[in-house]
Amino acid sequence: MKLYEYESKEIALRYGIPVPRGRVASSPDEAQQVAGELGAVVLKAQVLVGGRGLAGGVRIAESPEEAYAIARDLLSSSIRGERVERLLVEERVCIGRELYLSLTLDRAARRLVYLISEMGGVEIEELARRYPEKIHRVYVDPVVGYTDYMAREALRVLNLPWSLLPEVAKIMGAMFRIAMDYDAELVEFNPLALTCDGRLVALDAKVIVDDNALFRRPELQRLYGRDMSDYERRARELGFSYVELDGDIGVICNGAGLTMATMDSILYFGGRPANFLDLGGGASSERVREAAKLMLTHPRVRVLLVNIFGGITRCDEVARGIVEATKEVGVSKPIVVRMLGTNEEEGRRILTEYGMQAFSEMDEAVRRAIEIARQISSAG
Ligand code: GDP
Ligand code: MN
Repeated sequence: MKLYEYESKEIALRYGIPVPRGRVASSPDEAQQVAGELGAVVLKAQVLVGGRGLAGGVRIAESPEEAYAIARDLLSSSIRGERVERLLVEERVCIGRELYLSLTLDRAARRLVYLISEMGGVEIEELARRYPEKIHRVYVDPVVGYTDYMAREALRVLNLPWSLLPEVAKIMGAMFRIAMDYDAELVEFNPLALTCDGRLVALDAKVIVDDNALFRRPELQRLYGRDMSDYERRARELGFSYVELDGDIGVICNGAGLTMATMDSILYFGGRPANFLDLGGGASSERVREAAKLMLTHPRVRVLLVNIFGGITRCDEVARGIVEATKEVGVSKPIVVRMLGTNEEEGRRILTEYGMQAFSEMDEAVRRAIEIARQISSAG
């Protein structure tokens, strides 16, 4: 679960990491009041998407009146589809250099790793794409944890004066303790600013907590689900495994293995999945209906691919669920079905009666779904 910037900074501050003075405001009046206390301020939209600076979500105000006007503007806007409901109003900091410092989990290495770069202010994904050699890695031995040589290494990579060593050590040590205490997958400061007067301040902060460890933090567990799309939340409620992706083919399968194989096959043939939903074993027609409704109402899904290998899951139940969903939803998105196994004949009969056809070969179904998605995208 991603934490908002202001939540991440509250944690950072408690662990001794310097952050700008500031407060959260949810109305222009509040923003004006905070600006009255702090002087020149930065108003920052509290949304969970990145790159707010470029999207106009980080603005500077010289006076309380200007803070009021900017707050009114930001609080009635959306940033990359996410409504702005709160602002973080902070004292403006004079920036000398923008640095990048994060601690994240490298699953392949089974270790936390500090990512360190002189080129802060750029999103890490873009940095990794364009200047991979500019990101320095320091791996943390899980038995030993943070030790001070890491700060010396960071100091060198960041080209900072030796006088800042205690400060860098304090920040990196605190990041490690946050990662442990919160089961964080990411603790990121981008930028970590070297101010005009030579101090280090975390200007932006982002903490992502491992969902599986939320039970250890009841205060965070209560927030679970707030960063999910309506579709993710609905799928969780229904007990399906569901993942959002960014393509245009909706995918329903039964079982994790078949689901992954279907995803691979779509990519192999040049298609792009919009999402996938795993029905699990033995889904009733009611559950299939709910799953199909969710997919058919998803705005990015142009075509729905249903790939079922009937074992304890019965093909006739699946077919009934699909037919009911199309009746209820009333939108006519194309559906490509591949089914095989238990009660396959009855499943096919139900689909045929409703004017739908089922493939038995997976490759054929996948290729057909991709073809339909392409036709729709070039038509509209
Ligand atoms: P992001 O774009 O969502 O990552 O938002 P950030 O909090 O990182 O802010 C984006 C950019 O705004 C930073 O890289 C800085 O260049 C600038 N910025 C943020 N806070 C301040 C500030 O206090 N003073 C100045 N001069 N610039 C700031
Ligand atoms: Mn940032």
